[in-house]
Amino acid sequence: MSKIETSNSSTVRGAASPHVLPALPYAENALDPVITAKTMSFHYGKHHKGYVDNLNKLIAGTEYADLSLEKIITSTVGQPEKTAIFNNAAQTWNHTFYWNSMRAKGGGEPPAALKQKIEASFASVDACKKELASAAVSQFGSGWAWLILEGGKLKVVKTANADAPLKSIKPLLAIDVWEHAYYLDYQNRRADYVNAVLDKLINWEFALQNAS
Ligand code: MN
Repeated sequence: MSKIETSNSSTVRGAASPHVLPALPYAENALDPVITAKTMSFHYGKHHKGYVDNLNKLIAGTEYADLSLEKIITSTVGQPEKTAIFNNAAQTWNHTFYWNSMRAKGGGEPPAALKQKIEASFASVDACKKELASAAVSQFGSGWAWLILEGGKLKVVKTANADAPLKSIKPLLAIDVWEHAYYLDYQNRRADYVNAVLDKLINWEFALQNAS
């Protein structure tokens, strides 16, 4: 996307920004009632959009303005003075990955090729789901639970705040456990939200694509 150079750029900066909020891979009410349209409208339309808008404002006119999202994330991680850019870039990436980690009528049996990989790394699909749920529920405060591929093995990890397991690791699935992901629908019952996502929405096909 081309950038617009102006002398008084503050009003047109949004139009010139290189990062766009990706369309949801389904309708806002597609995951209802597990995740309601109301939650989706805030989570996608306010939170995810907010991360993209903030990122564009933060990087305008900086060395990061022309970098890909992944490059911004890997070049700002662990640098205290770049925390705001890292947080908004990582949250932009994480949310797009999270929307794709779910689908209407998801859950159920993983495709055979993925099931084989899951069974080679965990005792069973159920054991894998239990470990994911346990990571998601036990993450203290805001963060994410992930199914990842590392060194040919599937593993479950959790990260705090905006952190994502991107360094030499392939994420396969993400579950958002920030309160904004579930509070309107489940209030304090994070475990109910996590188990409903795993049983009814999790997108094993997306995990398989990422593992291939
Ligand atoms: Mn979120």
